[in-house]
Amino acid sequence: MKKADVIIIGGGAAGFFTAINAAEKNPNQKIIILERGKEVLTKVRISGGGRCNVTHAEFIPRDLSQNYPRGEKELLGPFHTFMTGDTIEWFEKHGVELKTEEDGRMFPVSNSSESIINCFLFETRRLSVDVLLNQSVKEIQKVDDSFLITTTSDNFSAEKIVVATGSNPKIWKLLEGLGHTIIPAVPSLFTFNITDERIKDLAGIATNARIKIPKGRDVLENNGSLLITHWGMSGPAILKLSAWGARTLESLKYQFEIEVNWLENISEEEVLDELKSLKVNFGKQTILKHSQFELPKRLWQSLIKATGISDTLTWAEATRENLQNIANQLTAGIFQVDGKSTFKEEFVTAGGVDLKEVNFKTFESKVCENLYFAGEVLNIDAITGGFNFQNAWTGGFIVSQNLSSPDPSQGGD
Ligand SMILES: Cc1cc2nc3c(=O)[nH]c(=O)nc-3n(C[C@H](O)[C@H](O)[C@H](O)COP(=O)(O)OP(=O)(O)OC[C@H]3O[C@@H](n4cnc5c(N)ncnc54)[C@H](O)[C@@H]3O)c2cc1C
Repeated sequence: MKKADVIIIGGGAAGFFTAINAAEKNPNQKIIILERGKEVLTKVRISGGGRCNVTHAEFIPRDLSQNYPRGEKELLGPFHTFMTGDTIEWFEKHGVELKTEEDGRMFPVSNSSESIINCFLFETRRLSVDVLLNQSVKEIQKVDDSFLITTTSDNFSAEKIVVATGSNPKIWKLLEGLGHTIIPAVPSLFTFNITDERIKDLAGIATNARIKIPKGRDVLENNGSLLITHWGMSGPAILKLSAWGARTLESLKYQFEIEVNWLENISEEEVLDELKSLKVNFGKQTILKHSQFELPKRLWQSLIKATGISDTLTWAEATRENLQNIANQLTAGIFQVDGKSTFKEEFVTAGGVDLKEVNFKTFESKVCENLYFAGEVLNIDAITGGFNFQNAWTGGFIVSQNLSSPDPSQGGD
């Protein structure tokens, strides 16, 4: 039986960040990381297309928390303790400088996730954290004040454990055995498969739009950039909708209708008024030829054709019904979604340990003392942009500060 003060299960982003900060806070603790694979930090390596989108340049806790469809309320407090600015400072202090891209995503200046991996491996060695590979955890038992952990090849015991195993169903099962409720996993962050004449051959066109999914009494809605793809629609507006609607869309088996306002914030009535004035002021102009409302020309032409008017019709010749159909097509076009596709291989899962059972001041379990969580094992997930790693850093840091009992020699008042 191998003993440690703290055992961290999972050698991913959250596990390493917890271990390094815990060892820095209290160098006397014996800390072991148990990793089932023959390598650690595999997701960090492939993240952000190999560049690792470490965090996001969003520095107001409330605004930051709004990027988490699950975890928004719970992360607000923790973000006041450790958030994006702290992440930047932490990495800088540990030799990894970050840079911000135009859209707010932050990456290592090296443009390589290896910088993060090398930093973590160096720090664990420097701080004498034991990183044990090929240790797939099969059993977790609590006997008196100790946790007994059985892996495929060894037995371990520790007074405190941190579960940082990401979205691993087997570990969730073990956590149920310790009294936890697990919210079932469903995919989040995906693109929509749509076969429709109106967007056929328009792959690559991006425009700002508002998308609605009217589903019974509640309406899911989002706006932002929408990208037409070879298989349907993608872009931030769609991805955000997929994340916020993850559970609803799963219940609809990914078969549902969306309503697209290609003019984002302009209403059907406002469009109709504008079309009427085009009829008065630009009567001789052929409708199809000149794009309006700054819509990409090919998209404009495709939407106009979908209303069924002739290619040569001028604004002056357009009937009241023609104008109404155009306004409707531009602001409330209905598209049938038939399935989903993975976004750039970046898949995120909604689901995990029920947040009601976790104390977010410490990230300790409320149902099993001395059991802590960090990262994606919790029912927390974010939209794309570096927010998922930020959850791992914030959780890992807060756990690390709560693992060792306060040192009496540090005094107090
Ligand atoms: C392709 C891809 C790209 C991504 N890019 C980004 C990005 O750029 N920015 C961003 O913010 N987010 C990104 N994400 C999401 C991000 O990677 C995750 O949110 C993050 O890795 C979660 O960290 P974690 O430590 O909780 O879990 P993980 O990184 O999944 O680590 C969990 C570890 O636990 C180990 N483990 C599991 N079960 C056991 C067991 N039974 N015994 C022992 N060990 C076990 C696993 O092998 C793994 O090493 C990306 C995800 C993917 C899939």
